[in-house]
Amino acid sequence: MTLLAREIASRIARSGPMPVDAYMRLCLSDPEHGYYRTRPAIGISGDFITAPEISQVFGELIGVWAAAIWDAIGQPATLRLVELGPGRGTLMADALRAIGKVAPALRAALAVHLVEINPGLRQQQAATLAGSSPRWHDDTATLPDGPLIVIANEFFDALPIRQFLRAADGWRERTIGLDGDRLVFVAGRSVPPLPRDAPIGSVAETSHERTALIGDIARRIARHRGAALIVDYGPFDSGFGDTFQAIREHKKVDPLAEPGLADLTAHVDFAALAAAARSAGATAYGPIPQGALMRRMGIAARAAVLMKNVDTARAALIAAAIGRLIEPDQMGTLFKALAILDARQPVPPGFDAPLQRP
Ligand code: SAH
Repeated sequence: MTLLAREIASRIARSGPMPVDAYMRLCLSDPEHGYYRTRPAIGISGDFITAPEISQVFGELIGVWAAAIWDAIGQPATLRLVELGPGRGTLMADALRAIGKVAPALRAALAVHLVEINPGLRQQQAATLAGSSPRWHDDTATLPDGPLIVIANEFFDALPIRQFLRAADGWRERTIGLDGDRLVFVAGRSVPPLPRDAPIGSVAETSHERTALIGDIARRIARHRGAALIVDYGPFDSGFGDTFQAIREHKKVDPLAEPGLADLTAHVDFAALAAAARSAGATAYGPIPQGALMRRMGIAARAAVLMKNVDTARAALIAAAIGRLIEPDQMGTLFKALAILDARQPVPPGFDAPLQRP
């Protein structure tokens, strides 16, 4: 049993079963034992690999996207480039390099702001981004006012969700209780009926933390101009299903087995994020598949440049990495991108063509 498992068990013994969001919050961000306070998370020696760690092209194309937004909002003299959960700083470093090439004036005008709670990752970000004088924040509340572009890759999936079960007698919150000293899922208290009903046994997921955060970002964008690009995994439309999962050392594990030692995530409900952005006064486009965004931003041309003067073994590695980002059976379709903009802007790059759903 981990120390955090003991702490959670004693809280449940004291106050009764715990909703999934409270459990996720403790497991991921408890100041002492939380996964994102204590673990390296990303990389071969961590628990999972993310798109910017697969290929530099991912961050570069996002940099090009940001430069197009800066242009569309009239090239403001200062722009905050904000990343939520920047991991090792790889995406930001690749984006800044690309911005330096395609829009040197933007490179000079921008200030880098990083929202991060992991002290180990903050150190890595400081090393990776040493030349860019980033400023760190615990959350978005302390971001300064003014035009901004917010990037978030695999960030929203780690924010807590609540789960609801459709039981014979109505909807109940899914909670975590005790069987002896083991953590188990139990049907909790009855909740008011959800807007959309579903067959008995269905699971619905909601996240106040995610929609509140999108609301804050969208309000800033609507007021000060700018954009957000959210890339994560989840379905096109809101649906039912249990997507709560744990990953440790690149394998799926039981989310209740080792609190604090595994990454906990759930699919992102893009339709809910888009709705929250719209009700905060911004426009939302997408989600579109990651593969479509990358193709439309020119991934093939960029890959051709990188493969030009390298040997065949290196070229094959580059091609394989690009394939991982865009192929439908890899990250190309499950991962999606949502764009949030102030209403005065045209449709952003990558989101403009009609989309054929798989
Ligand atoms: N975007 C990076 C890392 C994704 S992992 C990449 O693509 O490689 C999630 C990131 O979000 C990590 O940097 C983690 O430390 C950070 N994080 C997780 N929960 C957070 C929270 N509540 N507030 C701020 N940062 C958080």
